[in-house]
Amino acid sequence: MNLILLGPPGAGKGTQAKRLQDRYGVVQISTGDMLRAEVAAGSDIGREARAVMEAGQLVSDDILIRMLGARITRPDCARGFILDGFPRTVPQAEALDRLLADTALRLDAVIELAVDDSALVERISGRYTCAKCGAGYHDSFQKPQAEGVCDGCGSQVFTRRADDNRETVVARLEAYHRQTAPILPHYAAQAKLQAVDGMADIDEVTRQLTAILDRVAT
Ligand code: AMP
Repeated sequence: MNLILLGPPGAGKGTQAKRLQDRYGVVQISTGDMLRAEVAAGSDIGREARAVMEAGQLVSDDILIRMLGARITRPDCARGFILDGFPRTVPQAEALDRLLADTALRLDAVIELAVDDSALVERISGRYTCAKCGAGYHDSFQKPQAEGVCDGCGSQVFTRRADDNRETVVARLEAYHRQTAPILPHYAAQAKLQAVDGMADIDEVTRQLTAILDRVAT
């Protein structure tokens, strides 16, 4: 099953993708995570991407298209993938169409997590991640059961993304509306686009997604 999750930053794409990958045996491909790994490694791509990401802008299509092409042809994608954060521009969506055609892969669904902008600044500026296992938390909406201790692995070390601050979030939302939202009609024209209510609580969003995907997967 090959799926794209679309939606603004903070819509819950990463959280939901992590849940869906276990259920359907597919891999989450987060281009944001891939770029953060390049920044952490100090690679050429990382050096180029760092300032762009911290300003809340989009990294060049060229880099992203090459990166994604190499990723979805890796063996762990054999059972399928969930794209989280790609495509983010019309040229990226068109490049993905070509890549899928060349590799004889097809998209089963493109699902938009629809969320009001007003909720996003608070969602994003409160989120943090376990540094060891990557589990996601939030200051208000999703605290660990024991304060300061990861539910999943017991680690007490957490990280916050450099771009998860109020100023950068505003720029990221602006980039979403200007550059990413125009890909919604691209997938509507392919009769692939569906939407779920990303304002619902996390479990309810998962239920809505699995209701769609169980139909697609059978
Ligand atoms: P994310 O983790 O998806 O919120 O992405 C974090 C940042 O990485 C974005 O604000 C962009 O600067 C960059 N990024 C991630 N995916 C893409 C993409 N498909 N195209 C361009 N930039 C991206």
